Parts: sequence; structure tokens; C-alpha cells
Amino acid sequence: MSATKGYAAMRVKEALGPFTFERRELRDHDVAIEIKYCGICHSDIHQVRDEWGGAIFPMVPGHEITGVVTATGRGVTKYKAGDKAGVGVLVDSCRTCVECKSGQEPYCTVQGVFTYNSRDKEGAPTYGGYSEKIVVDENYVYRMPENLPLDAAAPLLCAGITVYSPLRHWEAGPGKRVAIVGLGGLGHMGVKFSHALGAETTVLSQSLKKQADGKRLGADQFYATADPETFVKLKGYFDLIINTVSSEMDWNQYLQLLRMDGSMVVVGIPEKQVPIGASDLIHGRRSLAGSMVGGIAETQGMLDFCGKHNIVADIEVVPMQKVNEACERVLKSDVRYRFVIDMASLKNG
Ligand code: NAP
Ligand code: ZN
Ligand code: ZN
Repeated sequence: MSATKGYAAMRVKEALGPFTFERRELRDHDVAIEIKYCGICHSDIHQVRDEWGGAIFPMVPGHEITGVVTATGRGVTKYKAGDKAGVGVLVDSCRTCVECKSGQEPYCTVQGVFTYNSRDKEGAPTYGGYSEKIVVDENYVYRMPENLPLDAAAPLLCAGITVYSPLRHWEAGPGKRVAIVGLGGLGHMGVKFSHALGAETTVLSQSLKKQADGKRLGADQFYATADPETFVKLKGYFDLIINTVSSEMDWNQYLQLLRMDGSMVVVGIPEKQVPIGASDLIHGRRSLAGSMVGGIAETQGMLDFCGKHNIVADIEVVPMQKVNEACERVLKSDVRYRFVIDMASLKNG
């Protein structure tokens, strides 16, 4: 076992503070990674506040992890000490169900093991990336493209893949009209990917405050959802809407913006249920769907795509000591567009 420094919430809704815990000894297929950076995902905040239920404390959040391999188990073939590596939302799964076998590990029907706030196959709690090091099976570790900086690439491991996967699945590309709802961590990556895939890309944000940024990120159009005219003008317009909003909102109103056979894919996970009426689905034969991060192979494919097209997140790097402040700013939609923790700051306590 190896003592590991990190930051944890000791109880629900508590501020994060210093916490020391154990990482397991390397098993044959394990990779030990010194964490350099970890993004702050809104899911970290939902889970510390136990908004989805079943939270396990103490909780060390963090699933947008980049770093450098320091040691490998005897059977490891994919990595060696010194390699740049990434870890995302999932650190293990059953590996035998149909979903796992087809590369859809987040949808594992037996046991998905999440990077934190989860239990591994032995029943031990998992601890995430707000910490100095992590031990992960090589099959759930990603190779980071050499040309991408480890800080700005960290958010690709969750924010990036969570929007890339549905954009690919619902075939965003030339001739398609795509809307991204909410310009936060996921949303700003959605704009970059949708634009890179060649789709006409529209941002639907609460106000026009982020309009210049949206255009710079690759949006063709930008509308404020606080303006009722937006919903009149864009009625029946989109093929695909990716909804990244973290709070409850009227999804029916957004379904009306889809043209015939269009789909709205929900990736934001609000605390409370959202009521859905049948008529907005029936008119226009529309679909409402959800999507969860992306499979292991797909995530590696997304990272390689980002390496090739030089795509990273727009980030603000913060020391660990500022993590609680950063979370407060995320809650106020005051993030441009992802906070990333510099793990070197952990040495300062
Ligand atoms: P974020 O950075 O806070 O972005 C969310 C954005 O939603 C905000 O920037 C804001 O954009 C908009 N928004 C916030 N409150 C709103 C409200 N009341 N009404 C309308 N719009 C609002 O969060 P994130 O890290 O991108 O995560 C977004 C959501 O996705 C979270 O619920 C998170 O848990 C979830 N998530 C899901 C998966 C998955 O696998 N499905 C993976 C990662 C994260 P504007 O200022 O532009 O309006
Ligand atoms: Zn996340
Ligand atoms: Zn499985």
C-alpha cells in the first residue's frame, strides 16, 4: 500500500480539505501514475452534494486525470515508466457482458467501477484524481497524444468524450444543424467538436455574455435562451441538440426546436426529475435520448482525434487550495471553460 495525499469531502456538502489515504500495491496489470493535473467536472460537485444519491464519504473527487507513468505491474505491455497517461470516468468494468465486449464499458450491466464514489471489485471505495497518484489497470488507462499539454488535455477525459461520443453516434457532420445547450465545460468542448466534424453549430446559452467566446470556439450562431424570441425563431430547426445543462429546465421547450426525426441527447444530470409531455415527441417523430461518457476504445480514438486536430479545453489552472472557490464559481456558470487543478500545489498542504 502506498500513502497518498489528496483533497476530500469528509461528509456530504462539506468543503474539500487535505486527506491521506492508501493506493493499492501494483497488481500484474496495474499502472501507477503520478497525477499532474485534474479537471473539475460539474459531476464532482453533484456527487459531493450527494445530488444523485448513494454517495460514499470520505470522497476524493476527480475523473479528468493526466500524468506520467511511474511504475508498472509485471504483466503490463501497453505502458512504461515516463509515458504520458490519462484516466477518465471509469477504472474497471466486468469485461464480460455484451456492452463491455462491444466497447461500451460505461453501460456495463454487471459492474462498472467509477474512478471515485464507487466500489472496486473487492468492495473497496475508489478515490479520484484530486490526489498525487493513482493506480489503474492498464486496460482503463489512456495514451495522451505527445503534442497536447497535459493541463489543457485533462478535461478531454470526461468533458471531451461525453460530448464527442453522442456527436459521433448521432452523426454530426456536414449538412447537419447541431445545437449545444449550456456553454460550460462540456458545452465548450461540444462546440469545438461539432465545428471540427463540419456541422453547423449553434450555442444556446442563458444570455449573450459568452457570445464572443462561443464564436471563437467555432459556433456559427449564438442565441440567448432567456429571450423568448429564440424559441420562436429556431422552432423545428435542429437535427441534433446536445443538452449539457446541470440543472432542471423545461426540456419540452427544447424538443420543439428539433425538425422531423431530430434528437435531443441529454448529457447534463440535474438533481431532480424533469417532466416530459408526449406531444412534443410525437409531433415531428422526435427522439429524446441520453448518453454517458464513452467507451474505452472510443475515448482513445477521441484523444487521437484531438492530437491530430490540436483540440484541447480552454482552461483556468488553479492550485488545490483554491478548489472550493473554483467549485463555487462553476455553480454560478462563472467558468471559462474548465478549471484544472495543478497537482504540484498539493506539496503546499
Ligand atoms: P458546467 O461547466 O457547470 O456547465 C453547465 C452549463 O449549463 C453552464 O455553464 C451554463 O451555461 C448552463 N446552465 C447552468 N445552469 C443553468 C440553468 N439553470 N439553466 C440553463 N442553463 C444553465 O458543467 P459541466 O461540467 O459541463 O457538466 C454539465 C452537466 O453534465 C452536469 O450535470 C454533469 O454532471 C453532467 N455530466 C454528465 C456526463 C455524462 O456522462 N452524461 C459526464 C460529465 C458531466 P450557460 O452559461 O452558457 O447558460
Ligand atoms: Zn465528469
Ligand atoms: Zn460489463
